[in-house]
Amino acid sequence: MKLVIGYMYPELLNLYGDRGNIIALKKRCEWRKIDVEIREIKVGADENFKDIDLLFLGGGADKDQKVVSEDLKNKKKNLIQAVEDGLTLLAICGGYQLLGEYYEISKENKIEGIGILDAYTVAGNKRLIGNIIVKANFLGKNSFLVGFENHSGKTFLRNCNPLGTVIIGHGNNGEDKKEGCVYKNVYGTYLHGPLLPKNPEFADMLLKISLSRKYGRVNLEPLEDTFENKAKEAFLKRFLKDKKLRF
Ligand code: GLN
Repeated sequence: MKLVIGYMYPELLNLYGDRGNIIALKKRCEWRKIDVEIREIKVGADENFKDIDLLFLGGGADKDQKVVSEDLKNKKKNLIQAVEDGLTLLAICGGYQLLGEYYEISKENKIEGIGILDAYTVAGNKRLIGNIIVKANFLGKNSFLVGFENHSGKTFLRNCNPLGTVIIGHGNNGEDKKEGCVYKNVYGTYLHGPLLPKNPEFADMLLKISLSRKYGRVNLEPLEDTFENKAKEAFLKRFLKDKKLRF
């Protein structure tokens, strides 16, 4: 089996360890003897996304998001088609914002998104920053995602589902307790950290749906995740101890 990962704008969207997500996906495939190709997709590249199995977009500063937004106009049609066909896409923070309709930094400065997600983002007047814990039922009962967020954009969902519910931290906007967004096989989230090494079950879920789309139902052999699980458990214990939540 072979997985082709499309890494979009590695030169512009790579904040707070986002590249670690690519490393985690690659390692978790290699440990299972699954071949991996990482295809970097940069500004100006002509890409039809047809033979990409898993696409990744990291976070970025406002000025870099502006450059990406311009370039995405040329890729938008093919990307929307690929998503409708079931492409797996993980987008973090700045990348997530650009999958929505727009990111309004000010009345005069609005960055266009590609509208895959029925959501929009407006800049707030304080940064939403810190550790974050999200209850993530899509990963199973009593499942959590842990990470770190740092954004001033506040994202509001219209007719689409959140990834989970904020337990600690701010999430999409610091107001409605919603975090991230899911549409088909597209997952948008504010969790940096990097997300996937900290949450290996989410990494495996993404690998599974990407490979199953290409090869039919794929079952991944479990990996030895003792350190990953201990790290996550320590994080949850530290922040949830006052919340009396079981995990
Ligand atoms: N520039 C965006 C914001 O501040 C996204 C930041 C990020 O990707 N961490 O909201």
